[in-house]
Amino acid sequence: MRNILVVLSGPSGVGKGTIAKEIIRRRADMTLSVSCTTRAPRAGEESGREYFFITREAFEKKIADGGFLEYSEHFGNYYGTPKDFVNDCLKNKSVLLEIDVNGGLNVRRAHDGETVLIMIVPPSVEEIRHRLKMRNTESEEQIELRMERIKYELGKAPEYDYSVVNDDLETTIGEVMRIIDEEINK
Ligand code: 5GP
Repeated sequence: MRNILVVLSGPSGVGKGTIAKEIIRRRADMTLSVSCTTRAPRAGEESGREYFFITREAFEKKIADGGFLEYSEHFGNYYGTPKDFVNDCLKNKSVLLEIDVNGGLNVRRAHDGETVLIMIVPPSVEEIRHRLKMRNTESEEQIELRMERIKYELGKAPEYDYSVVNDDLETTIGEVMRIIDEEINK
């Protein structure tokens, strides 16, 4: 038995949030990492639960101190994975990170211990395009941008340790549970 860092990535809409929640619910030996962000909390969000909400100054100081395993900016706010928090959690349990593909690859580079990268893949990229079109909430151009992003992320799958096709949610969760069991018991 060993405590490991598991990164779950995949294009948006692939169901990785649901999978991550379910893994945490089912595994007493695993905890979900809490990221830092400079964005304001939304109604009902609590610092230390959804995120650690910190100021831009504090975030930039933490960057300068090498306090993040990775960080990036989305919509003008910083988001990052705190190194000390993850390492503290790892003393007791394995840690699950739900993060984008570039973040995942950066974490592997920055983290000293064992990192297992799992990508959740949609059954078919064309199916996503079809669903987006049917939903009718985005323009043709926005749909194409999202498709480019999805193809970019899926193009990084060979750099991940595992890819799991999310055809049936329960089967996918079972497969991810099996991979984690195997890696923890290595
Ligand atoms: P939201 O503000 O909706 O909670 O998140 C905005 C975006 O930030 C999402 O795409 C989310 O995946 C990303 N994000 C959340 N935490 C982190 C993190 O620790 N690192 C990186 N790179 N992105 C994150």
